[in-house]
Amino acid sequence: MHSEIKTLQLNEPFRIAHGTSATRQVLRISDGTHVTEAPFVPYYGEDPAQTLAMLNQAVLPEKLPRTAALALNLLRHDLIGHATGQKLSAHALTKLGPSDRAAPPGCRSFSIPDDLDVFADKVRDISQQFRVLKLKLGSGDLGLDLAAVSVARYAAPEAALILDVNGGWGMHEAALMIEKLAHYSPALIEQPIHHRHGIEAWEELRASIPGNSPPLFADESVQTTADVAALAPFIDGVNLKLLKCGSFDAAVAMIATAREHSLQILLGCMIETSLGTTAAAHLAPWADWIDLDGHFYLANDDFTGIQYDETGQLLMPDRPGIGAIPR
Ligand SMILES: [Mg+2]
Repeated sequence: MHSEIKTLQLNEPFRIAHGTSATRQVLRISDGTHVTEAPFVPYYGEDPAQTLAMLNQAVLPEKLPRTAALALNLLRHDLIGHATGQKLSAHALTKLGPSDRAAPPGCRSFSIPDDLDVFADKVRDISQQFRVLKLKLGSGDLGLDLAAVSVARYAAPEAALILDVNGGWGMHEAALMIEKLAHYSPALIEQPIHHRHGIEAWEELRASIPGNSPPLFADESVQTTADVAALAPFIDGVNLKLLKCGSFDAAVAMIATAREHSLQILLGCMIETSLGTTAAAHLAPWADWIDLDGHFYLANDDFTGIQYDETGQLLMPDRPGIGAIPR
């Protein structure tokens, strides 16, 4: 088994409420021709060098860092998949049962804009292929957030708009913005308030907005199945990602819990290569929305896996295990 860190170069800096990135790092673990990946995400504060040193020890510690645990879990699933000739999704199928619908349409994300004209052109261009667009808000300037949504709505009148605030609004701002943005009929609003405020803040927010407000989804506020259950009365859906869940198995369990609470599921990813987004995409049939475009932002995506057709529909590779292969 071999572990290494790969640095991802972004095509252009990606700005969200947490900050701006020009590069990101992922952990790669390989065993022969089997390779898996897990991203390092600034807000978890994991030190890549420390994780790598831990993996290079003769005996692995019982409690592994988040990325190491995920990459090893995916490696186990990939090995089993190749041994049995089954795709990664087969494991989810045994736990969740067949999905009663097609995979949701593909989505593309837009970083907080600095130039609204450039942004409008980009939205117009990408909406030719993708019917779901995710706009990053929480710029710190409510006027810019409103303008971005307005520009996108006029540039792509038919698109479903997912508004992801990454916790960038204060409590009062959130109630105000949710009401104002309802005018643009967003498909959903994700993480309007910061996760540090806890469940009480979600309860308060829900009580302070009209009943017919756009659906509210929690992302950073949901880290465990206990969070899903506790937040369920105040939200309409959850954003689940492999890294957040910690393993493919835990993600499957989180989907089951979300469904028990009648919550919609947005399947997300981090900025990661096609190796990472393809692993997550095996859960797409059980999601209501997918946001699996992390690899589009990279200048050095060294894997090929999921694709989107000309209507933005997700195409899975027809190979066992994860199914992504080196370029
Ligand atoms: Mg999010």
